[in-house]
This record gives sequence, C-alpha cells and structure tokens, in this order.
Amino acid sequence: MTESPAAGPAAPLRAEALTRVYGSGALGSRHAVHAVAGVDLTLGAGEIVALVGESGSGKSTVARLLAGLERPTSGRVLLHGAEVGTLRGRAFRRYTRQVQLIFQDPFASLNPVHTVRYVLRRSLAIHRPQLRGAARDDAVRGLLERVRLTPVDRFLRAFPHELSGGQRQRVAIARALGAEPAVLLADEPVSMLDVSLRLGVLDLLRDLRDTMGIAILYITHDIASARYFADRILVMYQGQVVESGDSESVTQRPEHPYTRLLIDSAPDPERVVR
Ligand code: ADP
Ligand code: MG
Repeated sequence: MTESPAAGPAAPLRAEALTRVYGSGALGSRHAVHAVAGVDLTLGAGEIVALVGESGSGKSTVARLLAGLERPTSGRVLLHGAEVGTLRGRAFRRYTRQVQLIFQDPFASLNPVHTVRYVLRRSLAIHRPQLRGAARDDAVRGLLERVRLTPVDRFLRAFPHELSGGQRQRVAIARALGAEPAVLLADEPVSMLDVSLRLGVLDLLRDLRDTMGIAILYITHDIASARYFADRILVMYQGQVVESGDSESVTQRPEHPYTRLLIDSAPDPERVVR
C-alpha cells in the first residue's frame, strides 16, 4: 500500500519499497523471514508518525533500517533526498547523527557505571567535538533542561540506578539530542515505563517536535497511544503497511480488519492519558 506523500520533497526521511529478509538464501528461500516487505514511509519535517503493529510485525526492523544500523535487502532510505545506501565515511556519519534511535529499554541503554554527566559529555564529544571545556558543560546543562531533568545539578551527578525509568528515558533522549538530530526514531519508548510516567515522556517528545522541529517516528503496539500522540498512523502487519492515514481517521474509521483488531484489543483506550 502506498502512502500519500504528505510531506513533499523537503521530507527529512523517506523509505521506498523497504524490504529486509533474514535467514538462509534471502529472497525466495523457504527458510527466509520477510521481516519487512515493501514498506513506503514518509516522515515530514516536524511531523509525528506512528508505526503501529503487534510484536513481530517488523517495526524494529524498519527502525534499524532507517537508522542505518542495517542495510535493506532491497528498497531504499533517503534523507533530504540523498540515498543513504550510497553514503560513505563522513557523509554516512552525518546521516547517523541526524537520525537518532531511542530504544525501548531505558534500563539496558545506559551503562550503570557512568553518571548522567559522563553520558551526556560523551555524546557531545562524539557529535559536537568543537564544544570543549566550559562550553561542553554548558551544553550538557542545556540538554538536561531540554528534557526537564531539573534541578540540573542533582541529575548531573546521578547514576542510572538512582533514576526512575522515566528519568532514564529522558537521559537517553538528551543523549540523542546531543547529536542535533533532524529525526528521532522512538522504538516503543514508553512501553517499559510505569503507566504514570508514560504521558510525561510522550509530552516531552511532542514538545521537542514543537520547539525544535524534530520529526518523530513513534513505534508502538498501542494504537490508543498512537492516536493520542501522532499526526498520522501507519499500521504494520506481517512486514507490510496495511493501512495509513491521519490518526483520527485510522482510529475512528479503520478500514483494514487488522486495524480494527488492534483497536478492539486495546484494553483501555484512555490509559496513556489516564
Ligand atoms: P517488531 O519490532 O514489530 O516486534 P521485529 O522487526 O523485531 O518486529 O521482527 C520482525 C520479524 O523479523 C520477526 O519475525 C522476527 O523474528 C524477525 N527478525 C528480526 N530480526 C531478526 C534477525 N536479526 N534475524 C532473524 N530474524 C529476525
Ligand atoms: Mg520491536
């Protein structure tokens, strides 16, 4: 199914006929897993798009392909019109800076031996090496303020085990912001958090979109949270996008039976909103 290109040529990120096959022999083999099969996707500047589907539908594989962590079996990814597969060296590193991935598990994504200050200084050292000394420390403070971890001094000294899941996820988001990304790929960013913390993290991400114009791909199995958070929804089923449209239409007037199933199986449509 082809998605209408709402964003036009200026779209930061675009995927065309994205396909990823795992296992022996790749395409055509009986043992092959077609994790992603012909996905078209456009993420416009400052847009929040949700990729919704059950476990195993291919969402994380799409994220890895978009982040440049894996190469597609076929199809292509374009950032500002440039095909990622052709980028090498510095151009490829610039790409990986501009497209940052936020993972599901904030407990696994932070090294327990490092303070928050260390984690953020390191991100800046990698992505913005021109910032040194006091300028780097100022930028670290700015990142913490951006993700609303204040008072800043308290969080600078903290180790991951001293933080809640929501606070850890904010540190992970701050670390990603250190790269000054155009796009955040958030792979189930709140599904491991206490229900009471989910809304705060989603509202933070939306605020980053509103104030910095960052485009966000929000990956989730929870269509109710997608409706709350995203401008558009793409429903993924067995590696393919089976339905897409603006969030209201997809959730109010679903056309594909699988979308209806996702809506009906959401136990409490208000739970992300409380
Ligand atoms: P989701 O994130 O929606 O749960 P995934 O993208 O993780 O889905 O997985 C999609 C399908 O691809 C699943 O059948 C999964 O088992 C398979 N898969 C994912 N990664 C690999 C891999 N590295 N090797 C083999 N199969 C994989
Ligand atoms: Mg996944």
